[in-house]
Amino acid sequence: MSTLAKNTLAIDIGGTKIAIGLVHGDAIVERRQFPTPTVKEASQFAAMILEQAADWLDRATRIGISTTGLVTEQGISAINPDTLAFPAPFPLAAALESLTNKPVAMLNDAQAAAWYEYVNLPQPARNMAFITVSTGVGGGIIIDGKLHSGATGLAGHVGHFSIDPNGPQCGCGQVGCVEAIASGTAIQRRSHETFHPPISNVELFKLAPNEPQAEAIVQASAQAIATLCSNLKATLDLDVIVLGGGVGLASGYLARVVEHIAQRPHAFQVPIIAAQGDYDACLLGAAFQFNKD
Ligand SMILES: [Zn+2]
Repeated sequence: MSTLAKNTLAIDIGGTKIAIGLVHGDAIVERRQFPTPTVKEASQFAAMILEQAADWLDRATRIGISTTGLVTEQGISAINPDTLAFPAPFPLAAALESLTNKPVAMLNDAQAAAWYEYVNLPQPARNMAFITVSTGVGGGIIIDGKLHSGATGLAGHVGHFSIDPNGPQCGCGQVGCVEAIASGTAIQRRSHETFHPPISNVELFKLAPNEPQAEAIVQASAQAIATLCSNLKATLDLDVIVLGGGVGLASGYLARVVEHIAQRPHAFQVPIIAAQGDYDACLLGAAFQFNKD
């Protein structure tokens, strides 16, 4: 039996919601979601998740977690602790293991999605980066066919490439991070400074092709992502970069990034494609991580 033929209880932990799924092969057989509980103890948190998955547990041979934040041997922590709904480090994998006696694996959510995208690339590649542009900017790196998490789990936190010494303050403590310039949060901040009454990011994107100020805000984000892509190409000589997230997949965004990259010297250009995974890429990645070694 191949490892993917097993049933995996997949858990995707976000700041506000938790999605759980029973994954068989490459398909989510059943799926549920519920608000992230506000408990301080990992064992209590784990018990609440297991309660939601109680009728699946007999069928699941293992548990895969993808989570917001930084995953270390001690548990879940964060570069920006304000984004976590629990105290760090949060030993969730250990708590689930002791409650269920099943093997548990845990990955950062963007790394999990990166692995999912890598496995589903339309054309095989050896070296790939996944960049997600949504509320924040995150990512994951595949080097020579393997997910690279790094010794402390930090690898792929590409949103914290600092690209502008005069840029805005980032929640991580640095200045001018890609996340502080390109994220949905950054776009919204600039939009609210510009438009009164305030408009949503969806409205901003609709307005952009015919409204120079709206277009300039979207362009600033796309340009920062293009700079990030070229920096990653220079660092890792990538074959391809996969772009995802609510902003990354917004209509016309990828095309703007591609235009900015096309203006750079040839050595720093890299093909950019849209992510395959929809909002379940992190959940599927939670299950797919068992197939990565
Ligand atoms: Zn930062």
